[in-house]
Amino acid sequence: MAGVNNELRTLHVLGSGSAKPSALRANSSYLVETGGSLLAIDCSGSPVHEIMSRGLDPGALRHLYLTHGHADHVYGLPSLIHSLWMLGLFRQEPLAVHGTRETIGIAKALLAPFGLEERRNAPRIDWRQADADRPGELEGAAGLRVTAFPVTHAGTEALGYRVGDTVFSGDAICDDRLMSAVDDSVRAFVVDCTGPAGNAGHAGAADIAELVRKRPALESVLLTHIGFPASEESAVLDAFQGCGAEVRVLVDGDRLELR
Ligand SMILES: [Zn+2]
Ligand SMILES: [Zn+2]
Repeated sequence: MAGVNNELRTLHVLGSGSAKPSALRANSSYLVETGGSLLAIDCSGSPVHEIMSRGLDPGALRHLYLTHGHADHVYGLPSLIHSLWMLGLFRQEPLAVHGTRETIGIAKALLAPFGLEERRNAPRIDWRQADADRPGELEGAAGLRVTAFPVTHAGTEALGYRVGDTVFSGDAICDDRLMSAVDDSVRAFVVDCTGPAGNAGHAGAADIAELVRKRPALESVLLTHIGFPASEESAVLDAFQGCGAEVRVLVDGDRLELR
């Protein structure tokens, strides 16, 4: 496609934990570095510190894509905007924040007690509300193609995102919506694997493996939102035996090259 950025991009795992963080894992969030720009997916912890500790420039952040409004995915937003304000960033060009109506409502409400949108010289935020049922194509930085798709998660208006050839499930169960988002052109799949077994809100290893077996073009399956102990990791990986893709349990600080 004309104008689409095909250069290598880097995935930085800021957090790979479930809603119950551990010594190894903060709540889930990610950065994608491409063509000198940064995109963030979800917002937990202390995002500006996380960006800077990787030697990256918080002023290069162009878009934040929020998957849904559960606390473990959005509570870092006041910290992000407050830190950008302290650094004097985004006074002219806004930071685009994407999510469904429900998610953006929660995100705005999180900023309100601190007056972070009203302060003098506050960072400018361009709220981009996506349709919860048919979100479709969204603006991406540096010509990177970004699309959103609805996922099923605990009664929320939740989205997954496709960035280039990588799909991020967000929090989701494995159903037809997720299956259709991971089509034969997807190369890498960053997927919620909260536990070895799925539950009403999250996919489990066996469900994900079944999906992966139907998608032989997938090269890389990156398990995240991890809520199980290290002692269960081999049992989780065993579920993927016979899958063609390389399967990996993500951990905070991972840095992977994506196509
Ligand atoms: Zn979560
Ligand atoms: Zn959730």
